[in-house]
Amino acid sequence: MTTLYRQYRPAIFSEVTGQKHVTDTLQAAIVRNRLTHAYLFYGPRGTGKTTTARILAKRLNCEKATGAEPCGQCESCQAMAAGRNIDVIEIDAASNRGIDDIRALRDRIASAPSMGKYKVYIVDEVHMLTPEAAAALLKTLEEPVKHAIFILATTELHKVLPTILSRCQVYRFKRASREEMMERLRFLLKQEKRQAEDGVMDFIIERSDGCYRDAESLLGQLLTLQENELKKEALMELLGLPPDSVLEDFLGAMLRGESAAALTAVDTACNGGHDPEQFLQESIRRARDKALAAIAKNSSEAGRWTAIIRALLQARQDLDYVPQPQIALHLAILTICTTQGPVQGGGRPTEKKEALLQQPQQESKSLPTSNKPAENKANQQGVEKVAKIWSQLIEAVKSKNPVAATFLRAIEPIAGSEGRVDLRARYSLHRNFFSTPRNKEMVEEALEVLLGVKTEAVFILDEASPSSGQSNSGNGKSREEQFYETVKEVFG
Ligand SMILES: [Zn+2]
Repeated sequence: MTTLYRQYRPAIFSEVTGQKHVTDTLQAAIVRNRLTHAYLFYGPRGTGKTTTARILAKRLNCEKATGAEPCGQCESCQAMAAGRNIDVIEIDAASNRGIDDIRALRDRIASAPSMGKYKVYIVDEVHMLTPEAAAALLKTLEEPVKHAIFILATTELHKVLPTILSRCQVYRFKRASREEMMERLRFLLKQEKRQAEDGVMDFIIERSDGCYRDAESLLGQLLTLQENELKKEALMELLGLPPDSVLEDFLGAMLRGESAAALTAVDTACNGGHDPEQFLQESIRRARDKALAAIAKNSSEAGRWTAIIRALLQARQDLDYVPQPQIALHLAILTICTTQGPVQGGGRPTEKKEALLQQPQQESKSLPTSNKPAENKANQQGVEKVAKIWSQLIEAVKSKNPVAATFLRAIEPIAGSEGRVDLRARYSLHRNFFSTPRNKEMVEEALEVLLGVKTEAVFILDEASPSSGQSNSGNGKSREEQFYETVKEVFG
């Protein structure tokens, strides 16, 4: 059942969904006997390139066909359906064998087909051929053999040698539209004599990105997993996704800037055995929908959603660098809930930043005594200089360590002089992170490159921050504090 894609693979041109512009042209060429010896099919993965290549190969060697479609009955067609037609040679250029096959091809190509009229060579992922193999292929295309037909396929047209391209008739396969995908899935469901709950098909389509193979594989798995009507909840489970309510809780908390609630949602999902990466993907998808809806309504939430999407996309990049995947999600919560404030108070962080910029002397109280505070005016200019290159600096650091870049987004330059900049961290986690020599040097190197002078980075903890302990004289710990303790535990 999981091989729906193979089981119901289109056998004739008219069964291919969504590529009518290709199949119509090919059929017309067949009917008018205007065949060429080399075709190139390009387009996204899972859109039917290999399937169409096989149908074309089948028709070319069909013994009985009179129209544009293969007969499906003759010996050649049946051999093709069973995958044992020796006149059709499939080469996967992505594998090592593919390269060897191309090398051997020039010697073999002279021999006549054994059953049909043509020897058809289908070369998948042709852009992955080594230069040597590509040269061998080009040679065979330049000196066409009458009985040999090439069908090349690729997902990356721009990587195919122009000299090869110029020898081929080129066909573009497009990503399936929602309607085309729906038509195909409904057809499969009908073939399997099964029903699906409302929304299941939409859910599959949204997660397949126009790739038939992915959509059909998901549907196939779901058919195996469930006995009766296909349910959306089962599909979410199959994908490793937590229930709707958890995802909505998470996004709602992010919107309101409630780190504790967002954290609870993430932990509920992860402790429940759901995949953090899938959680992240799904959150990005939903946040995008919400952003679009907010934009359509001209709502003030649009900007907030954009920031959330950015933080989540960053988290997805961070996945490769963090010791545990949910840390990437924790960092996204940190970025959104603690540096941007709640949506209602959108102006707050900026106001605070300006206030801080105007009070460099007060800030300098927290400097170590061995460092004399810079002159007020020079200080202000120094801060501005660093503030100007701050986003570039984050970008530069990001290429080396994305987690450090995420932390730097929550850190502000507050004082500066020639050769020194004071950076204010609101959380001890951040300050401690950058007090390790390696991380500090990473920032200093970027400063030197961007400012043109060797500059020391001094990380200072904001006295007023919740995690510095001063604002927490009460019995309970603040949400942020608890949150940072969690993060700290994992980072060590
Ligand atoms: Zn036939």
